[in-house]
Amino acid sequence: MMRRVGGFFCFCTLRMEILPMTHPKTKGHIALVGAGPGARDLLTLRALERIRAADVLLYDRLVDPEIMELARPGAERIYVGKDVGACKWPQGRIDRLIVAKARLGLRVVRLKSGDPSIFGRACEEIAAARAAGIEVEIVPGITAASAAAASIGRPLTERGETDTFVITTGTCKPGDAAPDRARLAHPGTSMAFYMAVERAAQVQADLMGAGAPAACPVEIVTRASTPEERHVATTLGALSETIAAEGIANPAILFIRYPKSLARALAGTGAVIAA
Ligand code: SAH
Repeated sequence: MMRRVGGFFCFCTLRMEILPMTHPKTKGHIALVGAGPGARDLLTLRALERIRAADVLLYDRLVDPEIMELARPGAERIYVGKDVGACKWPQGRIDRLIVAKARLGLRVVRLKSGDPSIFGRACEEIAAARAAGIEVEIVPGITAASAAAASIGRPLTERGETDTFVITTGTCKPGDAAPDRARLAHPGTSMAFYMAVERAAQVQADLMGAGAPAACPVEIVTRASTPEERHVATTLGALSETIAAEGIANPAILFIRYPKSLARALAGTGAVIAA
């Protein structure tokens, strides 16, 4: 947009309006950057740019050390993982730290595994930045479900079989009720459960209690896209037993599918299925 001032087109006005928004010099900047599921080459080019430009990087245990190596040697690296002690880095402390660093005029990168918008507590950090008047940006990343599905060569949706794809969690905020899983137990649904290994027995009971057949196919992918990746196939009816027998541990994605053809096949046998 150009402005006409006294017969001249004024570009200076435009620069004054835009530059402080996109290149804050004094107030710092916070980027919530998706680090992807693990493999370095699943990082986006935008994420790479932000990592290279960062003055300070905050990261946790799901961010691969190889990705941290992409930062400038002089950049400050702060580990804020929960495994150093549940109370050492509560979310409020992370929120305050990113704001304090940005207030020094620094470019702060908060690295989050996968996509920062999916089970990443991004809302709290965005709210803290906005309350402090600091520009905050989300750089999307490849979420664990996408990477896990790609690794096992099974798309997340399948025309004619699964036309609804749900991303959900086995673990909610303490005190919150589990999501209503009866809504998910319908033919045509493909589900990706995050943070669900320890809650698998409950997930299994909820879905089957709502009518999902024991024969629903399940794929468990641990550490997708890393050299330690593992893939175990089972069924909904055998889910918790398989997890125990195989010693499955987090981080893992549980894919549970209720294909339409399974519902049709079971209907043909007269079995009771969810509508
Ligand atoms: N923001 C992340 C999710 C964070 S919640 C994303 O978009 O992927 C943490 C959970 O993500 C883990 O408990 C696990 O369920 C899943 N997860 C993260 N990385 C994973 C990986 N490489 N393989 C399998 N599951 C993963």
